[in-house]
Amino acid sequence: AKVTRYAPSPTGFQHIGGIFTALINERLASQSEGVFYLRIEDTDQKREVQGAIEDTIETMHNFGMDFNEGMTAQETFKGEYGPYRQSQRAEIYKTFAKDLIAKGLVYPCFCTPEELSDLREKQVAEKITPGYYGEYAKCRNLSAEEAIAKIEAGEEYILRLKSPGNIENRVEIHDLIKGDISFPENDQDIVIIKGDGLPTYHFAHAVDDALMRTTHVIRGEEWLSSLPIHIQLFEVLGLELPLYAHVPTIMKNDNGSKRKLSKRKDAEAAVSYYKEVGYPSVSVIEYLLNIINSTFEQWREENPTADYHDFTVSLDKMSKSGALFDIVKLNDVSKNVICKMKADVVYDNYVAWAKEFDAEMYGLVTANEKMSKEIFNIDKEGPKPRKDYAKWDEVKEKIFYFFDELFYKETAKDVELPKTLTLEAAKDVIKVYMNKYNTNVTSQEEWFEDLKAIGLELGYCANRKDYKANPDQYKGMISDVAGAVRAALSHRSNTPDLYTIMSILGKDNVKQRFEKFLE
Ligand code: GLU
Repeated sequence: AKVTRYAPSPTGFQHIGGIFTALINERLASQSEGVFYLRIEDTDQKREVQGAIEDTIETMHNFGMDFNEGMTAQETFKGEYGPYRQSQRAEIYKTFAKDLIAKGLVYPCFCTPEELSDLREKQVAEKITPGYYGEYAKCRNLSAEEAIAKIEAGEEYILRLKSPGNIENRVEIHDLIKGDISFPENDQDIVIIKGDGLPTYHFAHAVDDALMRTTHVIRGEEWLSSLPIHIQLFEVLGLELPLYAHVPTIMKNDNGSKRKLSKRKDAEAAVSYYKEVGYPSVSVIEYLLNIINSTFEQWREENPTADYHDFTVSLDKMSKSGALFDIVKLNDVSKNVICKMKADVVYDNYVAWAKEFDAEMYGLVTANEKMSKEIFNIDKEGPKPRKDYAKWDEVKEKIFYFFDELFYKETAKDVELPKTLTLEAAKDVIKVYMNKYNTNVTSQEEWFEDLKAIGLELGYCANRKDYKANPDQYKGMISDVAGAVRAALSHRSNTPDLYTIMSILGKDNVKQRFEKFLE
């Protein structure tokens, strides 16, 4: 059984890359009947953003990634390895740090930020690797008495690890995604406890992942280069090294060149975007599963109705390099997800979205619940089910005409006609329909016969080039007749099945729209 974790820093709102990493962690734990936990890494208190923790917890919940242990919305914890919030673990890190001080492996450093930046400048100017290490680690050589005297005099300090590493040596490690890698050993005296008494990421990572018995550290690849530091820390702490997997960053194709999805430039980087425009969370998850393992797509085809939880995520099938974010693919996935939902479920999801983001549609749909469910049921079954929308903000445009309040807002200039029809010709069709035929549709066969008859009466077949060759084939002429009816009822030239639309609208409404069309 694997123990994995998602360990965000509350320095901003959830990013799609975070959900991506969380999903891999959650799936691997769940597949192995292990434990997935949430740890809040809030050691950089200056950068903390109000509301970010709540946002994380809510996002995890919305995306169906409920964790077995971790911080919950009530500022409490479930699980026995907490607290799961680093700022509440300060004493734990200090205990480990004291132990390392006693062993002579950690020392206080009194260098001021100015001194450190002077050192850096000098090193850069002299083309020496910058940093606090070896002979440049000034405070390494302070005696215990000197250090104590400075502390007693009130000087500020941080704690550094006296690196036992040598840059000439190499460390080797197997990453579960990247494969075998090797690095020079770390020889920098890294900071483990900062001036505010809280640990650095590196130190907290080693202590927490060991104490919280993480078996697999699966995190963003931006941490790959810190591995030599982490390996060293586990070693000096005498703790067992977990397995590592570094997840490739999600990239974006920007005019032919690849770059990271950026919160500042790309709306789709923020998880809140998907909620706002109305992608079902399952769509986002299934899209991310496609990125995680390209085999997901085939699995989905072979198991169209299976729950995505039944797909087995595997790290060794994951691409080593940055995945490209592809909104077209996401839309495809999402259309399939929505298409497979029962009409009632579409209704519930749509209402929940509209309640928050489209008050007008919320009002209309809930006031016409029965009709709305019929609308969401159009062309659901059959060999070619309709895939009209990928997200809820596209629904209005597709179904607006069912609602008089929206339909009658449009004017003649908004009416779309098939290219083969003029407005006059369309009006002639409607006139004949109203005067001679039953606009209250009750049987699809009769309705179709009527359309054919109208076509014959108006000479549509005689006018069509292929009529002589295929006199039995009414399709062409029906499409013009149907195009006119469709335009009168929906103002659109492309809609779902017309017979169904007429049945849903009902005879009175059809009549009213026909009359209006002739005005
Ligand atoms: N707090 C780190 C981050 O948000 C977590 C990295 C990790 O998973 O260890 O980048």
